[in-house]
Amino acid sequence: MSAAASARQILTSLHEVMASRLHAQGKLDSVVEIIGESLTSEVCSIYLLREGMLELFATRGLNKSAVHVTRMAIGEGLTGTIAHNIETLNLAEAKAHPDFSYRPETGEEKFHSFAGVPIVYRERAVGVLCVQHVEPRRYEEVEIEALQTTAMVLSELITNADLVDEEEALGLTAAQQGPQTVTGLSLVKGLAAGIAAYHQPRVQITQVMAEDVEAERQRVYLAFDKMREQIDGLSNQAEFGIGGEHEEVLETYKMFAYDEGWSRRINEAIDSGLTAEAAIERVQQHTRMRMREIDDPLLADRMHDLEDLANRLLRIVSGQLGTAAQQGLRKDTILIAKNLGPAELLEYDRRRLKGVILEEGSLTAHVVIVARAMGIPVLGRANHGKGGLRGIVRDGDEILLDATAANATVRPSPQVADAFAQRFAKTKEKQAAYASLRDVEPFTRCGTRIQVMMNAGLRDDMASLAMTGADGVGLFRTEFQFLVSATLPQRERQLKLYRDVLDAAGDKPVIFRTVDIGGDKSVPYLASRIAENDENPAMGWRALRLALTREGLMKAQARALLEAAAGRSLYVMFPMVSEPWEFDMAKAVFDDQLAFLRAKKKRVPEAIHFGAMLEVPALAEVLDLLLPKLSFLSVGTNDLTQFLFAADRGNPALAERYDWLSVSIMRFLRRVSQSTVGTNVDLGVCGEMGGRRLEALALLGIGFRRLSITPAAVGPIKELVRKVDLAELTAAMNTWLAEPGINLRQALTDWAAEREIEVD
Ligand code: PEP
Ligand code: MG
Repeated sequence: MSAAASARQILTSLHEVMASRLHAQGKLDSVVEIIGESLTSEVCSIYLLREGMLELFATRGLNKSAVHVTRMAIGEGLTGTIAHNIETLNLAEAKAHPDFSYRPETGEEKFHSFAGVPIVYRERAVGVLCVQHVEPRRYEEVEIEALQTTAMVLSELITNADLVDEEEALGLTAAQQGPQTVTGLSLVKGLAAGIAAYHQPRVQITQVMAEDVEAERQRVYLAFDKMREQIDGLSNQAEFGIGGEHEEVLETYKMFAYDEGWSRRINEAIDSGLTAEAAIERVQQHTRMRMREIDDPLLADRMHDLEDLANRLLRIVSGQLGTAAQQGLRKDTILIAKNLGPAELLEYDRRRLKGVILEEGSLTAHVVIVARAMGIPVLGRANHGKGGLRGIVRDGDEILLDATAANATVRPSPQVADAFAQRFAKTKEKQAAYASLRDVEPFTRCGTRIQVMMNAGLRDDMASLAMTGADGVGLFRTEFQFLVSATLPQRERQLKLYRDVLDAAGDKPVIFRTVDIGGDKSVPYLASRIAENDENPAMGWRALRLALTREGLMKAQARALLEAAAGRSLYVMFPMVSEPWEFDMAKAVFDDQLAFLRAKKKRVPEAIHFGAMLEVPALAEVLDLLLPKLSFLSVGTNDLTQFLFAADRGNPALAERYDWLSVSIMRFLRRVSQSTVGTNVDLGVCGEMGGRRLEALALLGIGFRRLSITPAAVGPIKELVRKVDLAELTAAMNTWLAEPGINLRQALTDWAAEREIEVD
């Protein structure tokens, strides 16, 4: 008998049981018999969730007296692990698994092999179906598939037949009622209040068993067609005429979409009697299990693509289309997602999107860079064990997000809501006070004008320029356009963006940094070849290194910038310059393009100012050679400090270990600052550090007079600047930097407190 036929037979028998007049317990008793027999397995058991514990509800092969007696906590033993991780286990020797927990009342000691699958309802495990066998052997693929199918049918049965507590079945556990606190990692600081909305509204599989197999086949066939059309549509947008790596990535995606094996397995599942939705989900569950077993990071990436495609297919086939963005936000919203791409975030209505909670995410994830630029607080790594956030938060729940303190309160009590409202009001008051500084020029007490510029990367960021009164854009991260595009942006698209940005800036300068792609900012259409040999991407083939080898990329950007700034001043900055010749080579690309435009009698910029970022420590040793070539130098402290301390900037475990206010960093930066004295080079800092008040104070004290910072920090930094006497601060810094064992952070905090300068 073929695998599909035997699966169909199981399903038919299950169908008969379900349709029978047996009461629920009787049905479960029959199910364990059917499964045990079909898989020639000595044991088949069903555990269901009751009062937060997994209780043995039916068994064939274990001691009957254990039924309704054996109970396991979620996460306890193999059964609990399956429910906790919502994963399938297939073990030749159950005892060898680290989570094995022996229950003497069951009499299971003689059984060696074990396989179990979760019974899932609305993404929560509400039970576990497992089989055991005396002989130590792994169960075969078809057997596991039969178990997975049965688990789906059981999910329908137990929720229809009140077999698990109604609230538990609905996913309403104690954890989903009353106030709860979700903790995580602060990725973008700030406060926000709104209702919870999941980015990916879940697809509800309402029917597992097919009534008309042919009709289900047809539905899945049409859904495949539509999905493939969508994927082809994506790859047709791939327009940039250089390189072609983006196509490689899309090709992989396409390969999955057209994968015969995948569609065949789904069709086989339909043949066995499942609906199209249940078949897609079943096959996906199975793939997930196999990928987990392989444990290869490359395959894990591919799994992400495959999950994405399977969800797409599921949404098409069920007609439950769209993300929360596409369905539209109706109220102030805190968005919840496992992870997001920057483009997905940008699809949301900015007026209603107040905050984001991610189950994954890291400080340098693209989405976080974009959210920071949009001023949207983000809490990351908020993954709460059992069933993830879905186990705690439901769509529509009220949430108070305090991303500064790295937590969120779900369904807050009135007292907590009041306290939050007061804090919120205070921060708003402060923001209003900063806004009043908009037109005030930041002179220090001693009369030195400090340049307070802002960092930007998207067209929409430019609104902050007028709102904050910043002196200009000290760092425009041009790679953001690349990060949010599905395909490499063509020259015309770049030109349009740069022109819009310059228009929005009016008389204020904008320093465009050429693309800093690679490292933590990889883009899918360039990723494959870049990543190939990069074991350490932050120090790998990124930024200028990449741009100079991909000449077409650099040329297109140079031309777009030169044309956008026709008749105005253009400021161009190169990232990750490691040796002066790299600067020369990058500048030569611009010189060539300029000559080309002139030859074509096209209008060119009135003036072009070239600058470099100091992010690679080695460059500091050759500033005497580099500075004569530059109009400005901008220290990228995010990268520079990670290289100085050899501490990955994206690694949260190292985030607190080395201080920006360390003597080593400060002495290094002071030396850089001193080497620009007497030159015409305008020196600044454009890393995150400059936007923190205590750090900004230190930078002012070692000679920095230009800071380019995140827009939200412009007001607070202006306020700080106005309270500082530079001579006094510089003297203090010099004393401290010579003092053995000094705690610079403490010294600066005390110094500021004595002068009533707010630094938090
Ligand atoms: C830096 O490294 O400090 C910097 C400003 O660049 P990015 O954060 O974009 O790498
Ligand atoms: Mg950098």
